[in-house]
Amino acid sequence: MLRNALLQLSKSDGVRRTIEKAPVSSQVVHRFVPGDSTEDAVRATAELRATNRFATIDYLGEDTTDLTQAIRTRDHYLELLKALADADLSQHGMGEVSLKLSALGQYLPGDGDKIALEHAREICVAAQEAGTTVTLDMEDHTTTDATLEALRELRKDFPWVGAVIQSYLRRSVADCEDLAHEGSRVRLCKGAYKEPESVAFQSGGEVDQSYVRCLKVLMAGACYPMVASHDPRLIEIAGALAAHHEREATSFEYQMLYGIRPEEQKRIADRGDQMRVYIPYGEEWYGYLMRRMAERPANTMFFLRGLASK
Ligand code: FAD
Repeated sequence: MLRNALLQLSKSDGVRRTIEKAPVSSQVVHRFVPGDSTEDAVRATAELRATNRFATIDYLGEDTTDLTQAIRTRDHYLELLKALADADLSQHGMGEVSLKLSALGQYLPGDGDKIALEHAREICVAAQEAGTTVTLDMEDHTTTDATLEALRELRKDFPWVGAVIQSYLRRSVADCEDLAHEGSRVRLCKGAYKEPESVAFQSGGEVDQSYVRCLKVLMAGACYPMVASHDPRLIEIAGALAAHHEREATSFEYQMLYGIRPEEQKRIADRGDQMRVYIPYGEEWYGYLMRRMAERPANTMFFLRGLASK
């Protein structure tokens, strides 16, 4: 119930404005979001690199209906990719970027899909110059087909663009089968949005079972699976499947979110597996933080204590 309420609130502009204006302790936000600026994102990437972890960086923002804002988001990514290259943090996909098409203009009336695709393409050109890769985040189910279509378009010129599959969607095993081919980079996560029963499993058990079915397809395939989860059971199953298919440690990776289970992130990197951390940065932290709270009551308590302490 709390999860549904928080996911509902993550889309509420009124609550967003109230919370953004509240004097939330920067410590609370910075546990999950290292800062507002390009420098903050680069610094967080360098810190991860020092402990052998990779990064995928997201400039926060979503659902924009303002072309100027969509252009600004594109420009932030271009600036970020240049800064990563200048700091020698982008080569060989070490520091890559994650994009939300809804932040790049997908919801603009008329030509939204085309505009978002063009912005994503410009970011891919910059990523290629920086020697790194791009992953298209997956948003709510109403955008799944459009995002996969954009992925197909981008991959014609940039075959390294990564996809995301959400195991809570009933369609996802079939999508994994389509994407399990050679050269395809596929992030598998449980899914973070509030979705109707008609398209998505509702119980945690069913979502986990679907995650394992998807993992089996990806690990058996020729693709590069990106196992995005903090769930110890799923991480163990991913490792067992990788061993079963005699995968090299460089043929797949684990992914977790910035600030979540950092000791486990380091442990996985230290044992010789690849660990990539998703770093969100920027001022638009509200929707992102609400989804993290919906996932875990302990995160909500941490946030509320931070609000109360000011
Ligand atoms: P949960 O069901 O949240 O947690 C399972 C178990 O993990 C818990 O029982 C606990 O044992 C452990 N755990 C979880 N959190 C903690 C914690 N804070 N401390 C200690 N243990 C903990 N979603 C999308 O919809 N689209 C995307 O594009 C997307 N990209 C993502 C990229 C990355 C790299 C990651 C990691 C997640 C992404 N997500 C995305 C979010 C994802 O869908 C889930 O909402 C989120 O990862 C929580 O699911 P979980 O697999 O970690 O398991």
